[in-house]
Amino acid sequence: MDGEPKRKDSRRLRFRVSRSAERALSRGHPWLYVDRIRDQNREGTLGELAVVYSQDNRFLAAGLYDPFSRIRMRVLAAGKAEQIDEAWWRARLQAALARRQPLFASDTTAYRLINGESDGFPGLVLDRYDKTLVLKIYTGIWLPQLPVLNEMFVQELGAEAMVLRLSRNIQELAQSDFNYRDGSVLTGRGDFESILFMENGLRFEANVLLGQKTGFFLDQRDNRGRIETLAQGRSVLNLFSFSGGFSLYAARGGASEVVNLDISQHALSAAEKNYALNRDHPSVSSCRYHAVQADAFEWLREPVDRCFDCVLLDPPALAKNKQERDAALRAYESLNAAALRRLKPGGIFISASCSAQVKDEEFFEIVTRVAQQSGNRYRDIMRTGHAEDHPASFREAHYLKAIFLEF
Ligand code: SAH
Repeated sequence: MDGEPKRKDSRRLRFRVSRSAERALSRGHPWLYVDRIRDQNREGTLGELAVVYSQDNRFLAAGLYDPFSRIRMRVLAAGKAEQIDEAWWRARLQAALARRQPLFASDTTAYRLINGESDGFPGLVLDRYDKTLVLKIYTGIWLPQLPVLNEMFVQELGAEAMVLRLSRNIQELAQSDFNYRDGSVLTGRGDFESILFMENGLRFEANVLLGQKTGFFLDQRDNRGRIETLAQGRSVLNLFSFSGGFSLYAARGGASEVVNLDISQHALSAAEKNYALNRDHPSVSSCRYHAVQADAFEWLREPVDRCFDCVLLDPPALAKNKQERDAALRAYESLNAAALRRLKPGGIFISASCSAQVKDEEFFEIVTRVAQQSGNRYRDIMRTGHAEDHPASFREAHYLKAIFLEF
């Protein structure tokens, strides 16, 4: 890409890697870990283009070099060498846009435009919230390219504004070497703490400067839609509610009552605001609305004083890395068991996990085991994943899973 960092040594950065890494790259895996590198022709600089050759000198992959991460190179092109220039990036962007084009009607104005590796931009996501773009980067490789990306995205998408979000691991580097902060505004002006947008005709507000992810859990959109179709006449307990997305869909679907529970007062205030934005809808205005500020783990340990016709459980990732996995599996088990005790006979239980470290089958096994142990008969209605604007082209990119059970 234009603006590649200047370096003294003009030779292309080249690697040879272990046999297992050769196989992984040939199969299209987008990451090269540092401990798989067997030979490197020189030091690299952040974000420069690097090329991997096989032991017998065939081109395997080209990607961007990250000296600060165990994922030392993120693949852009595999199998055959390509000219990676601005036209190439624009073509990738257009492909990502074309993929989404059939997905959304005009009553949905917030969705993911680029989902990292799975859309050819490793470690980068681009979300649209109405006329504002939110670019979130998870690796420093993009920092040298931000001015170019900013211009390209804003221009190609006709956006009014672009906000930058940074994952925690690169905030210090971004500030010290590039003068960017989490929440830096790259283009435009506005009240980015409360951006209005629509999702399937429901109105929402998000804080794209400070909110979790890029401000809203766009990945749960399709599951929210599914809940709407199941909610008629039901009381709904929404555990870890965040800004109340599930509850609003349930209310529009005819729920008699929704209860949002979250530890964060900010999240609950946002949920209340979102609810108020949709009160002109008759079924939303006739649904009873409550909020409970509590630690869900503690709240669920209290004696059960009432049960609900629908219980939703969507906690934050309980395993952020391999080390936390075993503890997370136990936590999912006790959390699901406790949440199930709040469900009435005939009720619907929806349980989600966004831990990439926990595989779909493992999670479904835990929830169904807990359901069996409850001693009540149930029906497995469906098992789902991310919304369609969050494609996952390799295993590690697939994090969200949800299971719907009817008792
Ligand atoms: N279901 C939501 C997303 C949940 S995000 C949606 O679809 O929009 C996780 C939420 O859990 C956050 O709002 C966070 O504030 C909340 N949270 C984290 N720890 C918690 C705890 N111990 N008890 C209750 N809520 C918690």
